[in-house]
Amino acid sequence: DVPTLRQLYQLKQIVPAATSAAKYKSSGNLLDRVSLYQGTITGLEVDSIVNAANRSLLGACKLNTRALVDGAIHAAAGPELVEECRTLDGCNVGDAKITRGYELPSKHVIHTVGPVYSASGVGRCAELLASCYRRSLEVTAQHNLRHIAFPSISTGVYGYPVEAATLIALEEVRKFMASEDGSKIKRAIFVVWSNQDKEIYEQLIPLYFPLD
Ligand code: ADP
Repeated sequence: DVPTLRQLYQLKQIVPAATSAAKYKSSGNLLDRVSLYQGTITGLEVDSIVNAANRSLLGACKLNTRALVDGAIHAAAGPELVEECRTLDGCNVGDAKITRGYELPSKHVIHTVGPVYSASGVGRCAELLASCYRRSLEVTAQHNLRHIAFPSISTGVYGYPVEAATLIALEEVRKFMASEDGSKIKRAIFVVWSNQDKEIYEQLIPLYFPLD
């Protein structure tokens, strides 16, 4: 089972921040609708998981790289996933497109394309990364899906510094889940792979989702 932020506070895995540091003053029901989970996103039995794809949406069949989230998702979903991806005509950076989940326990996959990080275009990269989170959430709500699970988009081979990317992820998920469109989504899950990424999320979550 995937613990909610409220449960992580209760377990003291997340420690409240000084209130002066918090970006938001209260969380309301968001603490029961947002989760942090460490493990493979391919194991989650949810309505939708997000894939950090590339623009062709066919990257996973070109690179034999199961260490990347794209490769892991395609390996677990089976060959029908790439067949459906071929019909989508790619995806722009910052946008998101939905497919079925095939052999995954997740019903759907939302493929989003994160920016390749470049220190010379930080502002543009930040906008595009925020757009990935927003568009994925919008697609989820438009299809009346109850859950969305995110990997840490762009922070692997695309090189986005994890702390900066995490601030964007937390901000966009917080804003959308608190909005009217987001109220349909029962659960948003941040999925982390490494211990280091987990620690960064645990430290930054209290700024965006404070304990009331
Ligand atoms: P990008 O190309 O967008 O940088 P990557 O796949 O290289 O995407 O990495 C995105 C994040 O996904 C990284 O934090 C990586 O450690 C993580 N990751 C890799 N495999 C999995 C998996 N099976 N489940 C969840 N996250 C994963």
